[in-house]
Amino acid sequence: MSEFLPDFRLVRPQSLDQAITALQSEPGARLCAGGTDIIVNMRRGLVEVETLVDLSGIADLKTLDLDGNALRIGAGVTLRELAQHPGLIGPYQAIAQAAGLVAGPGHRQVATLGGNLCLDTRCLYYNQSHWWRKANDFCLKYHGDICHVAPKGNRCRAAFSGDMAPALMVLDASVEIIGPDGARRVPLAKLYREDGTDFLMLKPGEILTAVHVPVQRGKSTYDKIRVRGAVDFPLAGVAVAWRQDADGAHLFQLAVTGTNSMPINVDIPAPLGKDEDPDPYFATLEKLVQKAVSPQRTSTIAPHYRRLSVSALASRLARALI
Ligand SMILES: Cc1cc2nc3c(=O)[nH]c(=O)nc-3n(C[C@H](O)[C@H](O)[C@H](O)COP(=O)(O)OP(=O)(O)OC[C@H]3O[C@@H](n4cnc5c(N)ncnc54)[C@H](O)[C@@H]3O)c2cc1C
Ligand code: SF4
Repeated sequence: MSEFLPDFRLVRPQSLDQAITALQSEPGARLCAGGTDIIVNMRRGLVEVETLVDLSGIADLKTLDLDGNALRIGAGVTLRELAQHPGLIGPYQAIAQAAGLVAGPGHRQVATLGGNLCLDTRCLYYNQSHWWRKANDFCLKYHGDICHVAPKGNRCRAAFSGDMAPALMVLDASVEIIGPDGARRVPLAKLYREDGTDFLMLKPGEILTAVHVPVQRGKSTYDKIRVRGAVDFPLAGVAVAWRQDADGAHLFQLAVTGTNSMPINVDIPAPLGKDEDPDPYFATLEKLVQKAVSPQRTSTIAPHYRRLSVSALASRLARALI
């Protein structure tokens, strides 16, 4: 297989109904939004696509409504729009920050929220050329029968590395999905499962159409650890949302990407009391993060380093919010 983009058929629906029909009727059809993930993967021979259903002509997917503080973002809204949106501040700041940290400016101009939430999982042994993978007998995620990361296991550990999911999960976001059986809405955290090959809970023919964020109080923030500061996927990314209860105690919600095959919520059982010493509290928070994440040998950076650095990042971000 060459490193050229293979032939495929392109369908450009103008409505969601047309897109659903195209997904059902076209053999081997896959969705394409900005194309910054799927086109790269097609060129590398990671996915075999006969027909691409291009969502970029569907106007309904491109609206963002910030109404009385509740937020609805269409799946086709670009990351550039999110990063620059004047309303995404305070409790919504993590959304704009995460969007602004995805890839480079050229990618963000076309890359969409929907594509980011559904982006393929990544691994050192998978995001390689066809000849490299063939020389290594492929792996469970693509036509092989072994996992090079965890050879004794029977599940792919490739890492979900989208920046947007944790930023939305800490705000209790839910996603709108439409498909051949109608529309449904599920919490964003329930869109994913811990399986690098089959990480999305979307049914065949379904399209993610929008993200809803309920009314928020407080503040939120997002940051990531990456090898190259300018353009790179997160080795780990952390979102934290903060608010105070009626007694002035500090409540945190925390979510992480890049360490597991799905973005994960980290359970923070107790608030930090108004007059409590923060140091022991944040030491416990770091331990909770270390226990919750499960980085594997899916990148060149050692799992233990990622485990320690994600917990340090989490406590740094949480401290900065109070
Ligand atoms: C050099 C480089 C650096 C990158 N760095 C980062 C990074 O730092 N962080 C990061 O998160 N990503 C990164 N990416 C990946 C990618 O650019 C982004 O994740 C982007 O947001 C993907 O959005 P898209 O619209 O281009 O998705 P597409 O490529 O169009 O689609 C991605 C996947 O989602 C599916 N899909 C798209 N829209 C929908 C929908 N509405 N419903 C259901 N499925 C859908 C597609 O079928 C495909 O499987 C990088 C990519 C490159 C090439
Ligand atoms: S985690 Fe294992 S199965 Fe999954 S892509 Fe990497 S080597 Fe392949």
